[in-house]
Amino acid sequence: MAEIHLTGRPASPGLAIGAVTVLTAAVAKRTPTGDPAQEAVVLKAAIEGATTEIAELVGAVDGDVADILQFQVAMLEDDALAEGAYDAISAGVAADHAWRSALDAEISGYRSAEDEYFRARAADMVDIRDRVLARLSGVDTVAKITGGSIVACDDISPSIFLAADWTRGGAITLGAGSPSSHVAMLARARGVPMVVGLGPLSWNGPPPALALVDGDAGTVIFDPEPGTQRLFEHRMAVANAARAAADVGRTEPACTADGRRIAVLINIAAPEDLAGLDPAICDGIGLVRTEFLFETSHGLPDEDTQYAVYRRILEWAKARPVTIRTLDAGGDKPIAGLTAEGESNPFLGLRGIRLSLARPEVFRVQLRALLRAAVHGPLKIMLPMIAIPSEFDRAAVMLDTEFSALRAQGIACARPPLGIMVEVPAAALRAEYFGAAFYSIGSNDLTQYTMAAARDVGAVADLNDTGDPAVLALIARTVEVGRKRGVEVSLCGDAAADTHLTTALLATGLTNLSVSPIAVARLKTAIAGIRS
Ligand code: PEP
Ligand code: MG
Repeated sequence: MAEIHLTGRPASPGLAIGAVTVLTAAVAKRTPTGDPAQEAVVLKAAIEGATTEIAELVGAVDGDVADILQFQVAMLEDDALAEGAYDAISAGVAADHAWRSALDAEISGYRSAEDEYFRARAADMVDIRDRVLARLSGVDTVAKITGGSIVACDDISPSIFLAADWTRGGAITLGAGSPSSHVAMLARARGVPMVVGLGPLSWNGPPPALALVDGDAGTVIFDPEPGTQRLFEHRMAVANAARAAADVGRTEPACTADGRRIAVLINIAAPEDLAGLDPAICDGIGLVRTEFLFETSHGLPDEDTQYAVYRRILEWAKARPVTIRTLDAGGDKPIAGLTAEGESNPFLGLRGIRLSLARPEVFRVQLRALLRAAVHGPLKIMLPMIAIPSEFDRAAVMLDTEFSALRAQGIACARPPLGIMVEVPAAALRAEYFGAAFYSIGSNDLTQYTMAAARDVGAVADLNDTGDPAVLALIARTVEVGRKRGVEVSLCGDAAADTHLTTALLATGLTNLSVSPIAVARLKTAIAGIRS
């Protein structure tokens, strides 16, 4: 078989080699047997197969992800779930149609439930529906991602990514997708090489068995010849040695060639991202994205659960500053039961602080948990998607109110500084009008809103460029306002880790950059080579 060379866009750096797992969301055409008894047998087998498949995954993950999968197993084991489908099959409906209609009815029931907990279960029901449909149609749809797999598919959701085990390597190759999507961001944070925009992944004959992925160049070779594979393995060995050498300097403070000290902080999504990390590699945590805590939780996480997570993070940092961002749901980060459905343009909709202010009962719980955690270290609270000063003012009033309430109850708490993300051009253009204690530039969103080029659309990825003078001008303006007001300005979007942009970013006057832990060593090396 001839090797297949494909070129796409680099979305997460690194080289990987491994067996290919093809995932497809397409439900293949299935020919019904025409016999209701036979259709019922087929459905029963598909449900049992899906149950075993999920039960096997439970053993490979832990925490909230395992809880979600266990809930799915329990649902599939409950005979009542498929009753409606079996009734329809008896009336002559094909197994896949019967299952889909029965589950769609369940899903809409969950979506419109009064109770938050049940609304949040809707996404699990969608997963269950699709897993069984996949088995019915003979398509291996959902996460059969074993350690070290090179996943090949059109696109992949953050939940599938999070459910998979990447500790044994692996990579992602997508026909569609974008380097600025959240799944790409997750891949970079976990060090999983990823290439997007490869075009339709279709095979003449059986799918490929092996792939070589170059996440730096954005290329993939499926079914390589032995010579190609040997060459690639040699490159991987050289790259690993270079990474190990850079890692040695990871705990040194970052300084430019002419002695300018640059603070390098880290971005994380969950305490698990800190496992095995030495806090000495960074000057603190510049961004904790709390939405992933909400996304993998059963229902919304309560105050004690959130407090425990925030406290763990602060304790890890050992007195280094930690900036925790309040929930930034919405946009391309929907959370079942919380974010609005059916928005025509979710990036311009009810996301970030807008959603938190619209759902004060949810926001208050997070603010209380943060105020309580603040006694365990130098916490800063950051508000996402701020566009106008009154959003900041309203959030500040809520924070003060909860602080007073906790104190009145005799609960240990502290009032941390409250700052804003500068990721909406309106906030950059009027930064001086916000009473923020600090600014952190969200270059991912600031770029997409300034350039009118969505961060998750591959076709406009060229326009989605933080190095564009228009975006750099907004960054420089924010840095200048911070200097005049005497408040800290940092940048925590993915541009901070793009070493092609480091010179341009430092030229704006920035002295604080926050990147995923995997990018720290590379960024420090790049900074050391810059003379301003
Ligand atoms: C950003 O927009 O740059 C940012 C850091 O926030 P997120 O990527 O989570 O939207
Ligand atoms: Mg953002």
